[in-house]
Amino acid sequence: MTDTFEIAVFEGDGIGPEITAPTVALLKQMAAASTGYDLSFATLPAGAGHYAKTGESLPKESLRIAGEADAILLSAMGLPDVRYPDGTEISPQIELRMAFGLFAGVRPVNVRAGQPGPLTLPEGREIDFVLIRESTEGLFYSMGAGEVTETEARETLRITREVSEQLFRFSFDLAQSRKQQGRGPGRVTCVDKANVFRAFAFFRGIFDEIAVEYPDLAADHAYVDATALWMVQKPWDFDVLVTENMFGDILSDLGAGLMGGLGLAPSADIGLKQAVFQPCHGSAPDIAGQGVANPHAMILSAAMMLDWLGIKHDNAALRADGARLREAVEAVVARGDCLTRDLGGTAGTDEAAGAVRAMLQTAQAA
Ligand code: ATP
Repeated sequence: MTDTFEIAVFEGDGIGPEITAPTVALLKQMAAASTGYDLSFATLPAGAGHYAKTGESLPKESLRIAGEADAILLSAMGLPDVRYPDGTEISPQIELRMAFGLFAGVRPVNVRAGQPGPLTLPEGREIDFVLIRESTEGLFYSMGAGEVTETEARETLRITREVSEQLFRFSFDLAQSRKQQGRGPGRVTCVDKANVFRAFAFFRGIFDEIAVEYPDLAADHAYVDATALWMVQKPWDFDVLVTENMFGDILSDLGAGLMGGLGLAPSADIGLKQAVFQPCHGSAPDIAGQGVANPHAMILSAAMMLDWLGIKHDNAALRADGARLREAVEAVVARGDCLTRDLGGTAGTDEAAGAVRAMLQTAQAA
């Protein structure tokens, strides 16, 4: 009997439902064609639209079902006009990170040769690195609880040994797995500001301790400001980068920029048991309802989900379909004749997703 994996789906706000529908359709099609696994889907309410209607942004029942699911696929959430009484935006994705201890924010940055983008890649170079953003503490620790008086404001940055150890082991394991796949030299770079802040010297010290457990991998350090420069000047040199929450928040948008925009940037927030897969972009209310949103970041996030489920459950069919889905999107983008407006094309959401479906079929037939 094939294993069935339960996927909790949050359709989100703005363009969220528009990019979720074709993504789930692709997943259903791949699962139906596979003899190695099956998927079932539970669509759960949450988000800014739900908050506006009910006063609840992430219902307890949604949280419970998501916690019991095998993986969570989450679209973009939040709307600029819908806010909590303290003025902050509705962000169930951040609540999920905290509730399930999703400490590792995984942000892959891939640019194939020939793919349009802001950088001209030197001959023979491709960009293929992964930025890992700690996602439960750092400068986001005091989120919503900063102290503000008439004369000053304070936020607290927190770095713990427990989470840092888990984060660094996760990063080295990922570098190991990439090395085995021939996708990187097996190197992890700790990105910090250890020359100025004691908290980052602490972070770096724990990194060095964990690095010793992986003698066959390389480990080095870089300051966050220099890393921003190198991400533009020589991004092909990176393999796995690991950093604090706020630094990761900023660098991951720079990574998305390298790929030609947010519409191509997938992400995963991974914990010891649960994981959420979602595009890096927001709900893009300026283009919602027009059928022009780029679905690729969402589809690439779904591909990461298949890969993660495959590794977790030792299921080769899931891993193979995760790679096939990612490669199909990359091939469509590199071919360049069916791109959405954000990438300089004229295709709508359904056309762009349809091109991925056709590419999967072509690859299958080859
Ligand atoms: P958040 O703070 O929730 O991350 P944001 O304010 O940074 O959101 P986004 O919603 O990500 O903003 O949108 C930023 C810009 O990128 C907008 O102009 C939006 O239309 C565009 N954009 C974002 N996602 C997509 C997409 N999938 N396809 C096309 N354009 C997009």
